[in-house]
Amino acid sequence: MTEPMHVDLNGKTALVTGGGTGIGRAISQGLARCGCAVTVNFSKSDAEANETVEEITKAGGRAIAMQADITDEGQVEGLIAGTCEAFGGLDILVANAGGPTKLAPTGELSREDWDTGLDLNCKGVFYCVKHATPRFGKEFGRVIVTSSISARSGGGPGGLTYAASKGAVNNMIRSWAKEYGPRDITVNAIAPGVIWTRLHQNMTSPQERQNLVQRIPLGDVGEAEDCVGATLLLASNEGRYITGQTIEINGGMQMP
Ligand code: NAD
Repeated sequence: MTEPMHVDLNGKTALVTGGGTGIGRAISQGLARCGCAVTVNFSKSDAEANETVEEITKAGGRAIAMQADITDEGQVEGLIAGTCEAFGGLDILVANAGGPTKLAPTGELSREDWDTGLDLNCKGVFYCVKHATPRFGKEFGRVIVTSSISARSGGGPGGLTYAASKGAVNNMIRSWAKEYGPRDITVNAIAPGVIWTRLHQNMTSPQERQNLVQRIPLGDVGEAEDCVGATLLLASNEGRYITGQTIEINGGMQMP
């Protein structure tokens, strides 16, 4: 068996939004494996976040689970304050929570549907970055946002609000890279393609999966763990000169 990737994050603290499921869970575990103390955020059900924390703790790592709805600015402030209180500071934000909201043709989308999609995938990221960055230390800060292949592809059927918000995220990180660069804070995104988490398990039929696989040069969908290596690089000292970039993790499904 190959050893998982390792970077030195001893003494660092991270917050992973939506850290108890899918990609966020794999990232929480990866960061903890590298010595980072991790707040595993969840919005509604604490079961998966608690399970993630338990797994991390059993393996000798440090983690806590903390509830917050990222679309609520007050709750995001509380989440970040709680993380700093628990671990004595914050070094790394993984703004991962998100996903498609209502999938429908444009004519069937209401203003509320639009707002819900943009609130989750765009405004929630804004709140997290706004309140996390003032907590970073003087010489180190990392923001990694989970974008999507939809940011450049336009998304799947009915995915207008998702594609719009992920597209915005790809540009928000460039803006923040310029703003926060002078403080040695790097801001990047990972853009997964088709990663077989509950997001796809709930909405992609076996036939649709087969059709998607045919468009992937590497010949299969990805696993949540496939998103960990890029995140660790961006979070590490080795990634210090990478900022304003989106790393695509899609098996070659879409190329620059
Ligand atoms: P997932 O459904 O397991 O993860 C989404 C997480 O976000 C969940 O933990 C959920 O509880 C959390 N969340 C949702 N609304 C929230 C809120 N208001 N406040 C706090 N947390 C909230 O699916 P995933 O595939 O692991 O998705 C993680 C990220 O990856 C998302 O941003 C998604 O858009 C992105 N992504 C996934 C894929 C894929 O193929 N799975 C592809 C591209 C992008």
